[in-house]
Amino acid sequence: MNKLLETIIENNRVWTEKGKVATYIPELSKANPRHLGIAVYTVDNEEYFAGDYDVKFTMQSISKVVALMLALLDNGKEIVFSKVDMEPTADTFNSISSLETRTPNKPLNPMINSGAIVTSSLINGRNGDEVIEKFLKFTRKITNNPHIEINYDVYKSEKETGHRNRSLAYYMKSIGIIEGDVEEALDVYFKQCSIEVTCKDIARIGAMLANDGVLPWNGERVIPRQVARIVKTIMLTCGMYDASGEFAVKVGVPGKSGVGGGILASVPSRMGIGVFGPALDSKGNSIGGWKVLEEVSRELDLSIL
Ligand code: GLN
Repeated sequence: MNKLLETIIENNRVWTEKGKVATYIPELSKANPRHLGIAVYTVDNEEYFAGDYDVKFTMQSISKVVALMLALLDNGKEIVFSKVDMEPTADTFNSISSLETRTPNKPLNPMINSGAIVTSSLINGRNGDEVIEKFLKFTRKITNNPHIEINYDVYKSEKETGHRNRSLAYYMKSIGIIEGDVEEALDVYFKQCSIEVTCKDIARIGAMLANDGVLPWNGERVIPRQVARIVKTIMLTCGMYDASGEFAVKVGVPGKSGVGGGILASVPSRMGIGVFGPALDSKGNSIGGWKVLEEVSRELDLSIL
C-alpha cells in the first residue's frame, strides 16, 4: 500500500505546478507549492503514508468539520440548523451576496465561511478562550495527537486581514443569527483555522468519522453515530465549496478542503484519508491533493455510489 501511495504521489506531483498557494492570508504564501503528501488510516488501525505526509499546515476550512461536530454536540441538530442551512452553494466560500437576498435568511451551509462562523459561535464556553481550549482538546483527542497547537503567526495574519469574515459576522449579528459577542466568535474562528496538523492527523479524523464516531485506536465513542452521519453528509454535499458536485462525481466520498492545502476525506466503514498540497485551484481546493484523491479512489474503488 505504501508503494501504491508513493507512485500516486509521484504521478500527480506535476499538477502542483498548475495551482497557486493562497496569498490573501499573507502568512500562507510562505508554503512550498511543490509539496504533496498523503496519509491513510483504516478503521482496522492500519496506517499508510507517502510523499510530504509529515509537513505541517494549518487546518483552515477543515476546522469547520470539527466546529460542526462541537456545535451539534452542544446544541443538537434543531438549534444548529435553525441558524445555518444544509444546502450546497454555487458561490465562493467567502461569499456575502446570498446572506442578505436568500430566504431563509441564514448561511447556506456550515462548510462555507459564514456558516462556520455561526457554528463556532454556537460552541458553549464562558468566553472565546474557553471555547478554543475545548476545540483544541477535542482536536487532540480525535487526531490522537497531544501536540496539536495553534500557529500564532497564521492566526495573527488571519486576524489582521480577515475583513471579509468580519463583515460576514457583523451582518449576521445584525440579523440575529449570531447572538453572542461577534469579536469573540471571530477570534475562535481565526484560531481554529490556524490549528496546525499533518496529513496523519486529518486522516485520523476521517477514520473516526468512517467508524461512525468511534476512535478506531481505542474504541472510545467521541460523537453519536447520528452526528457522524450528519457531518459526513454535509461534507459530501458541501465540503469542497462550489466544487462539491464535481468532487462527488470524481472522488465519490465525503471530503473537506482548506486553503492551507489540506483535504480531509472519510470513506464510510473503511478509512480516513488526509492529503496535502498547498498549490490551489481557482476555487481554493488543493489541486494536487484533489488529483491524488481521484487516483486513490479509482485504484481502491472507494466511491460510495
Ligand atoms: N481562514 C480562511 C478564511 O476564513 C479559511 C477559508 C478556507 O479554507 N476556505 O478565509
